[in-house]
Amino acid sequence: MSKLQQLLAEHDYLLADGGMGTMLMGLGLEQGDPPETWNEIHTDRIQGVHEAYIEAGAQIILTNTFGGTRFRLKLHRLQDKAYDYNKAGAQLARAAVDESGKNVIVAGSIGPSGEIMAPVGDLLFEDAVEGFAEQAKGLADGGADILWIETMSDLLEVEAAITGIRQVTDLPIVSTMTFDTNGNTMMGITPMKALNELSKMNLAAIGGNCGNGPEEIEGVIQKMYATNQNLTLVAKSNAGIPEYINGHLHYNGTPEVMAEYAVKVRNFGASIIGACCGSSPEHIKMMRQALEINPINRVVIETAVETAAPQKERRRRRRRG
Ligand SMILES: [Zn+2]
Repeated sequence: MSKLQQLLAEHDYLLADGGMGTMLMGLGLEQGDPPETWNEIHTDRIQGVHEAYIEAGAQIILTNTFGGTRFRLKLHRLQDKAYDYNKAGAQLARAAVDESGKNVIVAGSIGPSGEIMAPVGDLLFEDAVEGFAEQAKGLADGGADILWIETMSDLLEVEAAITGIRQVTDLPIVSTMTFDTNGNTMMGITPMKALNELSKMNLAAIGGNCGNGPEEIEGVIQKMYATNQNLTLVAKSNAGIPEYINGHLHYNGTPEVMAEYAVKVRNFGASIIGACCGSSPEHIKMMRQALEINPINRVVIETAVETAAPQKERRRRRRRG
């Protein structure tokens, strides 16, 4: 039994952490700079963020490696550092967990390549697989307990990431997509389609992250849970919607708003609950308190089941091509 399975068996739900990027901005990361460089130059700050999330009650923490594929690092001519940054990122999270003495899972974060998969775009499937394998190898060598594919829009890219991971490690895999375009992903994938396809890929958990705040993810989880009640569902919502106020990104989701979301989304079927952009350890702490105080009342919202609409999907695909 994996460490994740064991924790899931022991608890009715698990709390994951919140945003990393937002925290790093607060610590001096300049907009546009690759956060992964900090895994080598500001190790104390990265480990400090992990420690704060563990202290707030997170049982799963995600490494600072979201943009750690060679594809993204290439924008900064750092592609040859991919393995090193990922290994270092996992080591920092591992160190934070070890020092806490708590039973916390290190999830190696794998974000999108930033490119569009062929034939629509230029990224060949085999190249994507190779890039994700390199990232996963670094994360596994650095001590990650699981691999966590997140913020994906394209199922083909998720498949490439899973294929790459499987080439280098047997660690459990979690995958979440971002349903920020009228409740579907940017590439037109509905929550039900995502659930149906991802559930064939032998993943430890499936769900949604990032996007336009709690309401959106609540809808995604309702749909996924109504479709299948036997899977481990993940909700990791942004702290509301970002707005520019006086030149700074501001998220309107307060810790109180996110605490309410945590209780709701658990009732809607999520059993791994966390936050994403705009959140902080303060949000996670309030979510933890709310989840502990409130009883679990799981509800299946039958009307949330989508009716298959293949024609609509065909239209969408044609428009993209
Ligand atoms: Zn996010």
